[in-house]
Amino acid sequence: MKKITFLFAIAILISTAIHAQDAEANFKTSIEFLADDALEGRETGTVGAAIAAGYIAAEFQHLGLSTVSDEGYFQEFIYRPRLNPHSTKTDTTKPGVVARNVMGFIDHGSEKTVVIGAHYDHLGHGGEGSLHAAKDGQIHNGADDNASGVAMLIYLAKELQKDQYAGSNYLIIAFSGEEKGLLGSNFYAKNPILAHETTKYMLNFDMVGRMSADKGLIINGVGTASEWLDLIESSNTNNVKLTTTESGIGPSDHTSFYLQDMPVLHFFTGAHEDYHKPSDDSDKINYKGMQEVADLVCEIIKQADNKDALSFQKTKEEKSSTPRFTVTLGVMPDYAFGGEGMRIDGIIEDRPAQKAGLEKGDVVIQLGDYPIDGMQGYMEALSKFSKGDKTTVKVKRGDEVIEEEIQF
Ligand SMILES: [Zn+2]
Repeated sequence: MKKITFLFAIAILISTAIHAQDAEANFKTSIEFLADDALEGRETGTVGAAIAAGYIAAEFQHLGLSTVSDEGYFQEFIYRPRLNPHSTKTDTTKPGVVARNVMGFIDHGSEKTVVIGAHYDHLGHGGEGSLHAAKDGQIHNGADDNASGVAMLIYLAKELQKDQYAGSNYLIIAFSGEEKGLLGSNFYAKNPILAHETTKYMLNFDMVGRMSADKGLIINGVGTASEWLDLIESSNTNNVKLTTTESGIGPSDHTSFYLQDMPVLHFFTGAHEDYHKPSDDSDKINYKGMQEVADLVCEIIKQADNKDALSFQKTKEEKSSTPRFTVTLGVMPDYAFGGEGMRIDGIIEDRPAQKAGLEKGDVVIQLGDYPIDGMQGYMEALSKFSKGDKTTVKVKRGDEVIEEEIQF
Protein backbone atom coordinates (compact mmCIF):
# COMPACT_ATOMS: atom_id res chain seq x y z
CA MET A 1 0.00 0.00 0.00
CA LYS A 2 2.87 2.37 0.85
CA LYS A 3 4.42 1.81 -2.54
CA ILE A 4 1.14 2.68 -4.25
CA THR A 5 0.79 5.91 -2.26
CA PHE A 6 4.29 6.82 -3.39
CA LEU A 7 3.52 6.06 -7.05
CA PHE A 8 0.32 8.06 -6.76
CA ALA A 9 2.30 11.04 -5.47
CA ILE A 10 4.72 10.81 -8.38
CA ALA A 11 1.88 10.49 -10.86
CA ILE A 12 0.24 13.66 -9.47
CA LEU A 13 3.44 15.57 -10.11
CA ILE A 14 3.72 14.25 -13.65
CA SER A 15 0.10 14.84 -14.50
CA THR A 16 0.08 18.43 -13.21
CA ALA A 17 3.30 19.23 -15.03
CA ILE A 18 2.23 17.95 -18.42
CA HIS A 19 -1.30 19.26 -18.62
CA ALA A 20 -1.79 20.75 -22.06
CA GLN A 21 -4.49 23.06 -23.33
CA ASP A 22 -6.32 21.57 -26.27
CA ALA A 23 -8.10 18.23 -26.46
CA GLU A 24 -5.97 16.58 -29.14
CA ALA A 25 -2.80 17.48 -27.27
CA ASN A 26 -4.33 16.05 -24.10
CA PHE A 27 -5.22 12.78 -25.85
CA LYS A 28 -1.61 12.59 -27.03
CA THR A 29 -0.17 13.31 -23.59
CA SER A 30 -2.28 10.62 -21.92
CA ILE A 31 -1.63 7.98 -24.57
CA GLU A 32 2.11 8.66 -24.71
CA PHE A 33 2.33 8.36 -20.92
CA LEU A 34 0.28 5.14 -20.67
CA ALA A 35 1.81 3.47 -23.74
CA ASP A 36 5.40 4.27 -22.79
CA ASP A 37 7.80 1.32 -22.46
CA ALA A 38 8.33 2.42 -18.84
CA LEU A 39 4.88 1.06 -17.93
CA GLU A 40 5.77 -2.27 -19.54
CA GLY A 41 2.40 -2.89 -21.11
CA ARG A 42 0.29 -2.31 -17.93
CA GLU A 43 -0.40 -5.96 -17.21
CA THR A 44 -2.89 -6.44 -14.36
CA GLY A 45 -1.12 -6.79 -11.02
CA THR A 46 2.22 -5.32 -12.15
CA VAL A 47 3.96 -2.08 -11.11
CA GLY A 48 3.26 -0.70 -14.61
CA ALA A 49 -0.47 -1.16 -14.04
CA ALA A 50 -0.19 0.48 -10.60
CA ILE A 51 1.56 3.51 -12.12
CA ALA A 52 -1.17 3.73 -14.78
CA ALA A 53 -3.83 3.60 -12.04
CA GLY A 54 -1.99 6.31 -10.11
CA TYR A 55 -1.78 8.48 -13.22
CA ILE A 56 -5.51 8.15 -13.93
CA ALA A 57 -6.40 8.90 -10.28
CA ALA A 58 -4.13 11.95 -10.39
CA GLU A 59 -5.90 13.17 -13.52
CA PHE A 60 -9.28 12.70 -11.82
CA GLN A 61 -8.06 14.67 -8.82
CA HIS A 62 -6.59 17.40 -11.03
CA LEU A 63 -9.98 17.70 -12.78
CA GLY A 64 -11.83 17.90 -9.45
CA LEU A 65 -13.78 14.63 -9.61
CA SER A 66 -15.15 13.35 -6.29
CA THR A 67 -14.34 10.01 -4.77
CA VAL A 68 -17.18 7.58 -4.09
CA SER A 69 -15.32 4.65 -2.54
CA ASP A 70 -13.73 4.10 0.88
CA GLU A 71 -10.54 3.48 -1.05
CA GLY A 72 -10.45 6.97 -2.56
CA TYR A 73 -10.35 6.83 -6.33
CA PHE A 74 -9.65 3.09 -6.27
CA GLN A 75 -11.74 -0.06 -6.08
CA GLU A 76 -9.45 -2.96 -5.32
CA PHE A 77 -9.99 -6.61 -6.16
CA ILE A 78 -7.83 -9.70 -6.03
CA TYR A 79 -6.65 -11.19 -9.28
CA ARG A 80 -5.70 -14.87 -9.36
CA PRO A 81 -4.06 -16.22 -12.52
CA ARG A 82 -5.70 -19.22 -14.14
CA LEU A 83 -4.20 -22.71 -13.76
CA ASN A 84 -3.30 -22.69 -17.46
CA PRO A 85 -4.47 -20.68 -20.46
CA HIS A 86 -7.20 -23.22 -21.29
CA SER A 87 -8.58 -23.63 -17.79
CA THR A 88 -11.44 -21.67 -16.30
CA LYS A 89 -10.18 -22.53 -12.79
CA THR A 90 -7.80 -20.23 -10.97
CA ASP A 91 -4.58 -21.28 -9.32
CA THR A 92 -5.41 -21.29 -5.60
CA THR A 93 -1.94 -22.41 -4.53
CA LYS A 94 -0.46 -18.98 -5.29
CA PRO A 95 -1.46 -15.77 -3.48
CA GLY A 96 -3.57 -13.42 -5.57
CA VAL A 97 -2.31 -10.01 -6.62
CA VAL A 98 -4.07 -6.71 -5.96
CA ALA A 99 -5.70 -5.15 -9.00
CA ARG A 100 -7.66 -1.91 -8.99
CA ASN A 101 -10.34 -0.09 -10.92
CA VAL A 102 -10.04 3.71 -10.83
CA MET A 103 -13.25 5.68 -10.30
CA GLY A 104 -14.19 9.34 -10.16
CA PHE A 105 -17.62 10.93 -9.83
CA ILE A 106 -19.22 14.03 -11.33
CA ASP A 107 -22.18 14.95 -9.16
CA HIS A 108 -24.75 17.14 -10.92
CA GLY A 109 -27.33 16.38 -8.23
CA SER A 110 -29.37 14.18 -10.57
CA GLU A 111 -31.16 10.97 -9.58
CA LYS A 112 -29.61 9.17 -12.54
CA THR A 113 -25.97 8.37 -13.25
CA VAL A 114 -24.30 7.47 -16.51
CA VAL A 115 -21.32 5.09 -16.27
CA ILE A 116 -18.43 5.91 -18.61
CA GLY A 117 -15.82 3.15 -18.80
CA ALA A 118 -12.59 2.05 -20.47
CA HIS A 119 -10.01 -0.53 -19.49
CA TYR A 120 -6.44 0.61 -18.81
CA ASP A 121 -4.70 -2.77 -18.53
CA HIS A 122 -2.96 -4.45 -21.46
CA LEU A 123 -0.83 -7.52 -22.16
CA GLY A 124 2.47 -6.62 -20.48
CA HIS A 125 5.20 -8.54 -22.27
CA GLY A 126 2.75 -10.50 -24.42
CA GLY A 127 1.66 -13.77 -22.88
CA GLU A 128 -1.29 -15.81 -24.04
CA GLY A 129 -3.23 -12.85 -25.47
CA SER A 130 -0.43 -11.84 -27.82
CA LEU A 131 -0.80 -12.26 -31.58
CA HIS A 132 2.89 -11.55 -32.14
CA ALA A 133 4.41 -14.55 -33.93
CA ALA A 134 7.75 -14.36 -32.11
CA LYS A 135 6.80 -14.88 -28.47
CA ASP A 136 9.96 -13.10 -27.40
CA GLY A 137 8.68 -11.12 -24.44
CA GLN A 138 8.62 -7.71 -26.15
CA ILE A 139 6.57 -5.03 -24.41
CA HIS A 140 3.03 -4.69 -25.78
CA ASN A 141 2.31 -1.00 -25.22
CA GLY A 142 -1.38 -1.06 -26.13
CA ALA A 143 -1.66 2.54 -27.37
CA ASP A 144 -4.93 1.89 -29.18
CA ASP A 145 -5.84 -1.01 -26.84
CA ASN A 146 -6.62 0.77 -24.65
CA ALA A 147 -4.66 3.89 -23.75
CA SER A 148 -6.92 5.53 -26.36
CA GLY A 149 -10.05 4.64 -24.37
CA VAL A 150 -8.52 5.98 -21.15
CA ALA A 151 -7.55 9.23 -22.88
CA MET A 152 -11.20 9.50 -23.95
CA LEU A 153 -12.31 8.95 -20.31
CA ILE A 154 -10.03 11.73 -19.10
CA TYR A 155 -11.37 14.06 -21.80
CA LEU A 156 -14.97 13.26 -20.82
CA ALA A 157 -14.14 13.65 -17.12
CA LYS A 158 -13.43 17.29 -17.88
CA GLU A 159 -16.09 17.95 -20.51
CA LEU A 160 -19.03 16.40 -18.65
CA GLN A 161 -18.60 18.81 -15.74
CA LYS A 162 -20.07 21.58 -17.92
CA ASP A 163 -23.64 22.76 -17.30
CA GLN A 164 -24.94 21.48 -20.62
CA TYR A 165 -24.48 17.91 -19.35
CA ALA A 166 -26.07 18.51 -15.93
CA GLY A 167 -29.07 16.23 -16.57
CA SER A 168 -27.17 13.21 -15.19
CA ASN A 169 -24.31 12.43 -12.86
CA TYR A 170 -21.32 10.60 -14.30
CA LEU A 171 -19.31 7.78 -12.81
CA ILE A 172 -16.06 7.50 -14.73
CA ILE A 173 -14.36 4.11 -14.34
CA ALA A 174 -11.03 2.87 -15.70
CA PHE A 175 -11.09 -0.92 -15.43
CA SER A 176 -8.27 -3.31 -14.80
CA GLY A 177 -8.20 -7.01 -15.72
CA GLU A 178 -10.05 -6.63 -19.05
CA GLU A 179 -7.46 -8.61 -20.99
CA LYS A 180 -7.64 -11.36 -18.34
CA GLY A 181 -11.37 -11.76 -18.96
CA LEU A 182 -13.34 -8.56 -18.13
CA LEU A 183 -12.36 -8.95 -14.46
CA GLY A 184 -12.53 -5.32 -13.34
CA SER A 185 -15.89 -4.54 -14.95
CA ASN A 186 -17.27 -7.84 -13.70
CA PHE A 187 -16.12 -6.95 -10.18
CA TYR A 188 -17.74 -3.52 -10.39
CA ALA A 189 -20.97 -4.95 -11.83
CA LYS A 190 -21.19 -7.40 -8.91
CA ASN A 191 -20.01 -4.83 -6.32
CA PRO A 192 -21.49 -1.57 -7.59
CA ILE A 193 -20.79 1.70 -5.80
CA LEU A 194 -24.06 3.17 -7.06
CA ALA A 195 -27.19 1.02 -7.23
CA HIS A 196 -27.72 -0.35 -10.71
CA GLU A 197 -31.32 0.99 -10.70
CA THR A 198 -29.92 4.52 -10.66
CA THR A 199 -27.58 3.83 -13.59
CA LYS A 200 -29.19 5.09 -16.77
CA TYR A 201 -26.77 3.50 -19.23
CA MET A 202 -23.10 2.62 -19.73
CA LEU A 203 -20.71 3.74 -22.47
CA ASN A 204 -17.54 1.72 -23.10
CA PHE A 205 -14.48 2.95 -24.99
CA ASP A 206 -12.21 0.13 -26.09
CA MET A 207 -9.88 0.95 -29.00
CA VAL A 208 -10.95 4.36 -30.28
CA GLY A 209 -7.60 5.55 -31.61
CA ARG A 210 -7.53 4.26 -35.18
CA MET A 211 -10.35 6.06 -36.95
CA SER A 212 -9.97 5.96 -40.73
CA ALA A 213 -12.16 7.45 -43.44
CA ASP A 214 -13.09 4.07 -44.93
CA LYS A 215 -13.81 2.26 -41.66
CA GLY A 216 -15.25 5.15 -39.68
CA LEU A 217 -16.57 4.28 -36.25
CA ILE A 218 -18.21 1.07 -35.07
CA ILE A 219 -20.85 1.29 -32.32
CA ASN A 220 -21.78 -2.05 -30.78
CA GLY A 221 -24.79 -2.64 -28.54
CA VAL A 222 -27.35 -0.41 -30.30
CA GLY A 223 -29.98 -3.10 -29.70
CA THR A 224 -29.72 -2.75 -25.90
CA ALA A 225 -32.15 0.21 -25.75
CA SER A 226 -34.99 0.88 -28.18
CA GLU A 227 -33.95 4.56 -28.35
CA TRP A 228 -30.29 4.12 -29.28
CA LEU A 229 -30.48 4.01 -33.09
CA ASP A 230 -32.57 7.18 -33.48
CA LEU A 231 -30.54 8.91 -30.85
CA ILE A 232 -27.23 8.05 -32.51
CA GLU A 233 -28.50 9.08 -35.91
CA SER A 234 -29.74 12.45 -34.78
CA SER A 235 -26.49 13.05 -32.85
CA ASN A 236 -24.30 12.39 -35.87
CA THR A 237 -24.34 15.96 -37.15
CA ASN A 238 -20.76 15.70 -38.48
CA ASN A 239 -21.69 12.68 -40.62
CA VAL A 240 -19.10 10.30 -39.21
CA LYS A 241 -19.26 7.00 -41.13
CA LEU A 242 -20.97 4.62 -38.70
CA THR A 243 -21.39 0.87 -38.55
CA THR A 244 -23.62 -0.47 -35.78
CA THR A 245 -24.22 -3.91 -34.30
CA GLU A 246 -27.08 -4.91 -32.03
CA SER A 247 -25.63 -7.22 -29.42
CA GLY A 248 -24.86 -6.17 -25.86
CA ILE A 249 -22.43 -9.04 -25.60
CA GLY A 250 -18.95 -8.55 -26.95
CA PRO A 251 -15.33 -9.05 -25.99
CA SER A 252 -15.15 -5.94 -23.78
CA ASP A 253 -16.36 -4.39 -20.51
CA HIS A 254 -19.82 -3.21 -21.63
CA THR A 255 -20.82 -6.91 -21.53
CA SER A 256 -20.60 -6.89 -17.71
CA PHE A 257 -23.16 -4.05 -17.56
CA TYR A 258 -25.44 -5.45 -20.26
CA LEU A 259 -25.64 -8.67 -18.24
CA GLN A 260 -27.02 -6.54 -15.36
CA ASP A 261 -29.80 -5.34 -17.68
CA MET A 262 -28.39 -1.91 -18.50
CA PRO A 263 -28.39 -0.26 -21.93
CA VAL A 264 -24.81 -0.11 -23.20
CA LEU A 265 -22.79 1.14 -26.17
CA HIS A 266 -19.27 0.15 -27.15
CA PHE A 267 -17.31 2.62 -29.28
CA PHE A 268 -14.63 1.01 -31.46
CA THR A 269 -12.57 2.27 -34.42
CA GLY A 270 -11.89 -1.26 -35.65
CA ALA A 271 -9.34 -4.05 -35.58
CA HIS A 272 -5.97 -3.61 -37.30
CA GLU A 273 -2.70 -5.35 -38.00
CA ASP A 274 -1.04 -4.09 -34.81
CA TYR A 275 -3.82 -5.49 -32.60
CA HIS A 276 -2.31 -7.34 -29.59
CA LYS A 277 1.19 -6.91 -30.99
CA PRO A 278 4.22 -4.90 -29.76
CA SER A 279 3.60 -2.50 -32.68
CA ASP A 280 0.38 -1.03 -31.17
CA ASP A 281 2.22 2.23 -30.44
CA SER A 282 1.24 5.85 -29.86
CA ASP A 283 2.72 7.13 -33.16
CA LYS A 284 -0.06 5.29 -35.04
CA ILE A 285 -2.94 6.99 -33.22
CA ASN A 286 -5.30 9.26 -35.17
CA TYR A 287 -5.77 12.08 -32.64
CA LYS A 288 -8.05 14.09 -34.90
CA GLY A 289 -10.23 11.00 -35.29
CA MET A 290 -10.43 10.72 -31.51
CA GLN A 291 -11.79 14.27 -31.38
CA GLU A 292 -14.49 13.27 -33.89
CA VAL A 293 -15.45 10.31 -31.70
CA ALA A 294 -15.50 12.57 -28.63
CA ASP A 295 -17.76 15.14 -30.30
CA LEU A 296 -20.25 12.47 -31.35
CA VAL A 297 -20.25 10.92 -27.87
CA CYS A 298 -20.90 14.28 -26.21
CA GLU A 299 -23.84 14.89 -28.53
CA ILE A 300 -25.26 11.42 -27.78
CA ILE A 301 -24.98 12.11 -24.05
CA LYS A 302 -26.71 15.48 -24.44
CA GLN A 303 -29.57 14.00 -26.45
CA ALA A 304 -29.96 11.05 -24.06
CA ASP A 305 -30.31 13.65 -21.30
CA ASN A 306 -33.60 14.76 -22.87
CA LYS A 307 -35.08 11.38 -22.05
CA ASP A 308 -35.92 10.39 -18.48
CA ALA A 309 -34.93 6.79 -19.08
CA LEU A 310 -33.86 4.48 -21.88
CA SER A 311 -35.80 1.25 -22.41
CA PHE A 312 -33.45 -1.65 -21.90
CA GLN A 313 -33.98 -4.61 -24.19
CA LYS A 314 -32.20 -7.92 -24.54
CA THR A 315 -30.50 -8.33 -27.90
CA LYS A 316 -31.23 -11.20 -30.21
CA GLU A 317 -27.72 -12.55 -30.86
CA GLU A 318 -27.72 -13.99 -27.40
CA LYS A 319 -30.72 -16.24 -28.04
CA SER A 320 -29.41 -17.68 -31.30
CA SER A 321 -26.29 -19.07 -29.70
CA THR A 322 -22.92 -18.47 -31.35
CA PRO A 323 -21.64 -21.66 -32.97
CA ARG A 324 -18.72 -23.26 -31.16
CA PHE A 325 -15.58 -23.62 -33.20
CA THR A 326 -12.16 -24.97 -32.36
CA VAL A 327 -10.21 -23.86 -35.44
CA THR A 328 -9.65 -20.42 -36.97
CA LEU A 329 -8.08 -19.04 -40.14
CA GLY A 330 -5.80 -16.77 -38.14
CA VAL A 331 -7.15 -13.46 -39.45
CA MET A 332 -8.68 -10.29 -38.05
CA PRO A 333 -12.17 -10.02 -39.55
CA ASP A 334 -13.36 -6.60 -40.65
CA TYR A 335 -16.41 -6.14 -38.45
CA ALA A 336 -17.35 -2.99 -40.33
CA PHE A 337 -17.66 -4.85 -43.65
CA GLY A 338 -21.26 -4.84 -44.81
CA GLY A 339 -20.97 -6.92 -48.01
CA GLU A 340 -21.33 -10.67 -48.71
CA GLY A 341 -18.65 -12.79 -47.05
CA MET A 342 -16.01 -12.08 -44.41
CA ARG A 343 -13.46 -9.42 -45.28
CA ILE A 344 -9.96 -9.94 -43.88
CA ASP A 345 -8.63 -6.90 -42.11
CA GLY A 346 -5.32 -8.38 -40.99
CA ILE A 347 -3.41 -11.62 -41.34
CA ILE A 348 -1.83 -13.23 -38.30
CA GLU A 349 1.64 -14.54 -39.00
CA ASP A 350 2.25 -18.25 -39.17
CA ARG A 351 -1.39 -19.28 -39.11
CA PRO A 352 -3.53 -21.14 -41.73
CA ALA A 353 -4.62 -18.09 -43.75
CA GLN A 354 -1.07 -16.79 -44.13
CA LYS A 355 0.21 -20.22 -45.09
CA ALA A 356 -2.53 -20.50 -47.72
CA GLY A 357 -1.42 -17.18 -49.22
CA LEU A 358 -4.48 -15.14 -48.24
CA GLU A 359 -4.06 -11.37 -48.10
CA LYS A 360 -5.46 -8.42 -46.23
CA GLY A 361 -8.56 -7.21 -48.10
CA ASP A 362 -9.53 -10.67 -49.38
CA VAL A 363 -13.20 -11.49 -48.85
CA VAL A 364 -13.74 -15.11 -47.80
CA ILE A 365 -16.84 -16.45 -49.56
CA GLN A 366 -16.54 -20.20 -49.12
CA LEU A 367 -14.83 -22.74 -46.84
CA GLY A 368 -14.97 -26.30 -48.14
CA ASP A 369 -18.62 -26.89 -49.08
CA TYR A 370 -19.90 -24.06 -46.92
CA PRO A 371 -20.70 -20.71 -48.53
CA ILE A 372 -20.02 -17.72 -46.25
CA ASP A 373 -22.37 -14.76 -46.33
CA GLY A 374 -21.13 -12.87 -43.28
CA MET A 375 -19.60 -13.18 -39.80
CA GLN A 376 -22.24 -15.61 -38.52
CA GLY A 377 -21.83 -17.84 -41.59
CA TYR A 378 -18.06 -17.67 -41.19
CA MET A 379 -18.28 -18.93 -37.59
CA GLU A 380 -20.76 -21.62 -38.59
CA ALA A 381 -18.44 -22.85 -41.35
CA LEU A 382 -15.48 -22.93 -38.94
CA SER A 383 -17.49 -25.05 -36.51
CA LYS A 384 -17.55 -27.86 -39.12
CA PHE A 385 -13.75 -28.32 -39.03
CA SER A 386 -11.23 -29.74 -36.57
CA LYS A 387 -7.54 -29.10 -36.08
CA GLY A 388 -5.48 -30.74 -38.85
CA ASP A 389 -8.37 -30.83 -41.38
CA LYS A 390 -7.52 -29.88 -44.97
CA THR A 391 -10.04 -28.07 -47.14
CA THR A 392 -10.31 -25.31 -49.71
CA VAL A 393 -10.98 -21.63 -49.18
CA LYS A 394 -12.51 -19.38 -51.81
CA VAL A 395 -11.84 -15.64 -51.63
CA LYS A 396 -12.69 -12.60 -53.70
CA ARG A 397 -9.63 -10.46 -54.38
CA GLY A 398 -10.75 -7.41 -56.33
CA ASP A 399 -12.76 -8.79 -59.25
CA GLU A 400 -11.06 -12.18 -59.14
CA VAL A 401 -12.21 -15.28 -57.27
CA ILE A 402 -9.28 -17.33 -56.01
CA GLU A 403 -9.35 -20.82 -54.52
CA GLU A 404 -6.55 -22.10 -52.26
CA GLU A 405 -5.83 -25.22 -50.22
CA ILE A 406 -5.86 -24.59 -46.49
CA GLN A 407 -5.02 -26.67 -43.44
CA PHE A 408 -6.25 -25.91 -39.91
ZN1 LIG B 1 -9.14 -3.73 -25.23
